[in-house]
Amino acid sequence: MKNNGNYESWGRYPKVSHLGELFPHSLDKARDAIESVSSLVLPRGMGRSYGDSCLNENGYLLSTKLFNRFINFNPETGTLRCESGVSLDEILKVFVPKGWFLPVTPGTKFVTVGGAIANDVHGKNHHKAGSFGSHIIRTKRTNFYLCKMT
Ligand SMILES: Cc1cc2nc3c(=O)[nH]c(=O)nc-3n(C[C@H](O)[C@H](O)[C@H](O)COP(=O)(O)OP(=O)(O)OC[C@H]3O[C@@H](n4cnc5c(N)ncnc54)[C@H](O)[C@@H]3O)c2cc1C
Repeated sequence: MKNNGNYESWGRYPKVSHLGELFPHSLDKARDAIESVSSLVLPRGMGRSYGDSCLNENGYLLSTKLFNRFINFNPETGTLRCESGVSLDEILKVFVPKGWFLPVTPGTKFVTVGGAIANDVHGKNHHKAGSFGSHIIRTKRTNFYLCKMT
């Protein structure tokens, strides 16, 4: 969340000043954006982290908001391939009507796939399903499993 030029995480502490936020339109453009600045750059999903893991004091944030494309879904295996800025909300909107659900969901659906992987989020079924990372096949152009709703 941006507040008077400072960014906060969901926990609203600390408030941290940044040099700016980059909004590349694609992964290819992300490389150019990172190389165009001389400070450290941190990816940022939806800023739903409670701690400071989505903050980069005196550096740049790189928004993944525009990495929001679904790439492929295989209904035989339940394998979804999408970009890292796709939110769990967007996945649920598309796939619940088709009978599919995420194997692991945190307490909010307003997180990105990239944020869910980076923090290896867990849900209430942690003891059975493990964390989000247990369902990742590979992270390049993110691939992971959905589960069939019963
Ligand atoms: C109401 C609420 C309930 C929650 N409940 C739970 C819960 O039950 N279980 C749980 O585990 N967590 C829970 N959380 C925490 C939340 O799920 C995690 O903090 C999640 O990582 C936030 O995702 P985000 O997209 O907002 O990422 P951000 O907060 O923006 O970023 C988190 C980290 O991911 C990195 N990152 C983001 N995108 C990328 C990318 N594309 N590539 C590389 N790194 C990236 C960032 O650099 C940062 O280090 C909850 C949060 C809220 C607000």
